[in-house]
Amino acid sequence: MTGLRCVGCGREHREAEAPYTCPACGENLDVLVDHGAIRSRWSRDDAGRGRGDGIWRWLPLLPVSARPAIPLRIGDTPLVALPRLAAALGLAALHVKDDGRNPSASLKDRASAIAVARALEGGVPRVTCASTGNAASSLATIAASVGLETIIFVPETIPRPKLAQLLLHGARVLLVRGNYDAAYDLCLQATARFGWYSRNTGFNPYLCEGKKTVGLEIAEGLGWDAPDSVFVSVGDGCIFAGVHKAFADLAALGWVERVPRLVGVQAEGASPLAAAFRAGARTAAEVREATPRTFADSISVGKPRDATKALRAARETGGEILAVADDEIRDAMRRLAADGGIFAEPAGAAAFAGLLRLARDERLDARERAVVIVSGSGLKDVESAIRLVEPPAPIDPDLDAVAARLGVRT
Ligand SMILES: *Cc1c(COP(=O)(O)O)cnc(C)c1O
Ligand SMILES: [Zn+2]
Repeated sequence: MTGLRCVGCGREHREAEAPYTCPACGENLDVLVDHGAIRSRWSRDDAGRGRGDGIWRWLPLLPVSARPAIPLRIGDTPLVALPRLAAALGLAALHVKDDGRNPSASLKDRASAIAVARALEGGVPRVTCASTGNAASSLATIAASVGLETIIFVPETIPRPKLAQLLLHGARVLLVRGNYDAAYDLCLQATARFGWYSRNTGFNPYLCEGKKTVGLEIAEGLGWDAPDSVFVSVGDGCIFAGVHKAFADLAALGWVERVPRLVGVQAEGASPLAAAFRAGARTAAEVREATPRTFADSISVGKPRDATKALRAARETGGEILAVADDEIRDAMRRLAADGGIFAEPAGAAAFAGLLRLARDERLDARERAVVIVSGSGLKDVESAIRLVEPPAPIDPDLDAVAARLGVRT
């Protein structure tokens, strides 16, 4: 890592001068990686040899100086081929990157691990973040594994399983009356006052480097033959930007030949980035805040904090950011579960809903090889899942009851 560059004004900063956003203009920062230096002493096969150690296999590409003493395995999640679904949708290939299979059951662990590693390197005792739920439960999980304290700001409507994770992992939890955007602003104020280390998305520039590991693993999992498209659910836009960063790094290293088209998917009720993309916007300043309303709590964001990077990811890759209705997300959850064996939380299935939308609109190519990132497990929000199904009435414990219920003869 050679420094940081502002996505707004373009100024470059040294690490020590800019812990979070640009000191000159307040926009977010890109972490600059020295691709030439990395290429001269490290190869993609070296990364492959560490398999099983999760994201730390990519250490030369990460903003930490040594493998941290985090005992949990983060990353190295399954890349599942789903040929039946691919055929049904008219695709040449479809893979799901099942990131619900991380320690805290969401992709957020990739970013939290970097925040915790940097807190450990800096000797910082206390880490904070605002979150719709997953960033927080992820931070609490990984911090617990190394004995760091966490102070967490979440909306009071956080799904119960995520709250249970926070409390069991020993976080100090502040349940904020208001939505994620309100919790975020409060967390920033408290951080400035009390001097904790912040893991806030779209504020701490290093999180994007953690999230990019999902893209590195996708490229590696496909034998370094980049897919044609990657579908990502979008709230703040940091995962989406992270996937872009992954393929930009890999292309600069010469490890992949092309960068896939990146398709960001928001929920209609919380779609300021999709609206901004349609309107031709390129920067955060052009994004209109909205009051979020969607059952996909992890992407219920009205004021996206990584907007400039997200818009750039869509434009530079020939992709887009689209919005899907909550009912389309429900269909995507059913379809992923019933036809793919993948149980996703609503936001985790939103990316697949985006793929279903393009299939319905006949905007997929028969030669297309698509990857969908499932960013969180269905067990994260059991209430939303149970509302999608009709639990059967109980039966008496005898065979006649079984036969009667199934309509078969005993
Ligand atoms: C956080 C989250 C997202 C959105 O990520 P952003 O970086 O905020 O865009 C999507 N899905 C799940 C499950 C998440 O937890
Ligand atoms: Zn700037």
